[in-house]
Amino acid sequence: MSLTEQDILRYARHIIMPEVGGRGQKRIKAASVLVAGLGAAGSAAALYLAAAGVGRLTLWDPAELTEADLTQAIAHARSSLGQSRAASARGKLLAINPDAAVAASADPDALPDLVAGHQVVVATAGDWEAVQSAVLQAGASAVFAGVQGAAGAALAHRPGTACLGCIPAEERDRAGLRPEGEGCAVAAAGGVVGTVAATEALKLILDIGSPLTDRLWAYDGWTARFRETGVSRRPDCPLCGGD
Ligand SMILES: [Zn+2]
Repeated sequence: MSLTEQDILRYARHIIMPEVGGRGQKRIKAASVLVAGLGAAGSAAALYLAAAGVGRLTLWDPAELTEADLTQAIAHARSSLGQSRAASARGKLLAINPDAAVAASADPDALPDLVAGHQVVVATAGDWEAVQSAVLQAGASAVFAGVQGAAGAALAHRPGTACLGCIPAEERDRAGLRPEGEGCAVAAAGGVVGTVAATEALKLILDIGSPLTDRLWAYDGWTARFRETGVSRRPDCPLCGGD
């Protein structure tokens, strides 16, 4: 995957960074990311991944865009009301980066099948256990991130590290590591969690830094505190145990 003259102009501020460089920008262009959920955190993640130059993005969200979504999900515009959230966000991503290949799916059952063929999954909604199982099967990487109210959490996974199932459900719940649903989210707090998820996805693509693997990261917007808990692979994990 080579960079065009337009790419070099557009991504100049990435390319001069030693951590990214021309080689890293080519990796970002060659990458494919599936974003599941276009609510508060997923919107922020998708926008930043498109802006960063991810070459292929697939957006999954079966919900239809409503007026209330506009309070918290910044990948949408009022003019898109009535469209699926996936289609609505696709339009906004393409406005930011018309060179990206952006696909949208509103099929409620398609999520696990969409995982195959993507290098990284950013999951903010949907059936996370099914996503993690498909990620393990495909040998892909994932970032799980969700926000409720002003609090949220994130965990990254790549082959060989602790998976979602390695963390007991009650511990995940306590940390706020839950898919987004119909509930409330403070938009800006969702932005914090979503941009952490996008940063993690880029680190996994570039293989740089210390990814949020084997570490559960949690954020409380009301107190402005961050917390981190170490996690490790469990041999009796229902999803990855025995691999
Ligand atoms: Zn596991």
